[in-house]
Amino acid sequence: MGKKMLVIGEYREGSLRNVTFEAIAAAKQISPDGEVVGVLCGEGDLTEQGNEMIYYGADRVITVSDEKLKTYTSEGYGQAIKAVLDDESPEGIVMGHTAVGKDLTPKLASKLETGLISDVTEVSSEGGNIIFTRPIYSGKAFEKKMITDGIVFATIRPNNIASLERDDSRSGEVTTKDVDIADLRTLIKDIIRKGSEGVDLSESKVIVAGGRGVKSAEGFEPLEELAEVLGGAVGASRGACDAGYCDYSLQIGQTGKVVTPDLYIAAGISGAIQHLAGMSNSKVIVAINKDPEANIFNVADYGIVGDLFEVVPKLIEEIKQI
Ligand code: FAD
Repeated sequence: MGKKMLVIGEYREGSLRNVTFEAIAAAKQISPDGEVVGVLCGEGDLTEQGNEMIYYGADRVITVSDEKLKTYTSEGYGQAIKAVLDDESPEGIVMGHTAVGKDLTPKLASKLETGLISDVTEVSSEGGNIIFTRPIYSGKAFEKKMITDGIVFATIRPNNIASLERDDSRSGEVTTKDVDIADLRTLIKDIIRKGSEGVDLSESKVIVAGGRGVKSAEGFEPLEELAEVLGGAVGASRGACDAGYCDYSLQIGQTGKVVTPDLYIAAGISGAIQHLAGMSNSKVIVAINKDPEANIFNVADYGIVGDLFEVVPKLIEEIKQI
């Protein structure tokens, strides 16, 4: 008999984030014969998003809708999801290791008095046990963990566990649960967006990142064009952010975003350990640097020694011809 797995979904501007589908796939890997119950919190009718979770493998979805859940707060979402957990008593919970996931899941784990394995990049089965692999020491090593008792609770790193194929013929119930959300001590009145409006860095399959070698805000323009022709997002080193060439929302690394795209192009980035912590697990790394001794070449699959202002336009030209 499989486990009942709860998957906490996330959406942005009405569209579910890919990591939600990846979390469903992870729940199925944890318990192939189990039931996957999706949970969505927000405001208004969430049936469309609920159905989408079903197309990607959830068996049924519970939505909690309240104007206090319009934007995420750990207090509001915590109350809503705790009410669902009390009803459902799942044996496993999976969520994305996103900004929301990182904030919400420790709170839920403490309420449930259970453990939590965070930032999982792989789920496997060994000798009948479910093994979770997660990076440690800023990505320099991996540890394998298993849960021996209690609820199997994990967050998964975006872009690492493949989601299941979308199947629009799947059907399942999307129900709404009424939860009386108590007044929140913190209310988010408005969200003011800063920096790039483009593709979400943590979920992008291609990232073109610039460092101090880009030399100015205008120097990022060729990188933006390269990202555009590749259908990717632009990222940056802290060196570039500190120099004021771009917004901190683009920073990748130990104190920035952790990314695992299929392709990471680092241009004018030296490869400091704190930068590598955020990108060294990318599937293919291409480094462009005029210093052949730059540390970034130690993690790169392909290295181009040269001036990025000559190399990047040539790459754009070639890619446009494909
Ligand atoms: P630099 O080290 O100055 O490298 C610039 C590179 O560009 C050089 O290798 C140079 O050869 C090359 N270059 C110059 N001109 C060209 C050209 N025309 N064409 C090609 N190449 C060229 N850093 C992060 O990135 N992310 C983090 O999250 C982060 N967190 C940190 C946390 C702490 C606690 C600390 C202490 C540091 C952190 N740092 C972080 C900073 C980190 O140590 C480095 O200082 C930073 O990554 C350097 O950025 P950079 O590679 O762009 O700049």
